Amino acid sequence: MLSVDLHTHSIASGHGSTDRITDMTDEALRRGLALFGISEHGPGTPGGASCSYFLGLKLLPRRKGSLIIRYGAEANIMDIDGKLDLPDHILKELDYVIAGIHPRALKHLDREQSLRVYIGAMKNPFVTFIAHPDDSRYEVDYNAFVSACLKYRCVPELNEISVSPASYRKDSRKNVRNLLKACMLYNCPVLISSDSHGRKGIGEATHAEELIKDLSFPEELIFNSIIRDRIS
Ligand SMILES: [Zn+2]
Ligand SMILES: [Zn+2]
Repeated sequence: MLSVDLHTHSIASGHGSTDRITDMTDEALRRGLALFGISEHGPGTPGGASCSYFLGLKLLPRRKGSLIIRYGAEANIMDIDGKLDLPDHILKELDYVIAGIHPRALKHLDREQSLRVYIGAMKNPFVTFIAHPDDSRYEVDYNAFVSACLKYRCVPELNEISVSPASYRKDSRKNVRNLLKACMLYNCPVLISSDSHGRKGIGEATHAEELIKDLSFPEELIFNSIIRDRIS
């Protein structure tokens, strides 16, 4: 169980759940998380949240009992240059931004194209994390990818859904192993996320944590632990 989970979605993402933010923060508190983040899909995802929705997040509570709550976005990367589906004036109001490639916007990319797309997104100063860089439809050279993450101060994600048996991404488990090996080689931290749609999977990362253990991935490179130590 994660104590810090920053990649989750409520009903506002338009698919996968009817749970509201309140339902989710109640559940995160009940499960004993220290820090919980909601990161809705942006308008590039059908049914995703609008710009005005994201602007309203600053009115919401940032604490519930012992739980710290933060509000971000999972922005969709829309083109070969890494353009996002939310403008900078919205992104800068958020606590953090996760950028990810999704099949509706970009179908298949070769190694060179994927790296170009990721670097384009990383160059956006508001992007903090790169979502699920583990899908062979967007294959990437992990040494080059991780080097770029360090250069542009972005943290790649280890996504629980990607490495679970129900994963719909291609070759994710194999790709995640290569990602983690490159992170160890270059000393690059990784964010572990549930990517829970609704409250049912909040903080859950059983398969991700198994891989971490299996590879003896060092605790000091787990971004969740770095943040938890800073807030405790
Ligand atoms: Zn995603
Ligand atoms: Zn997501």
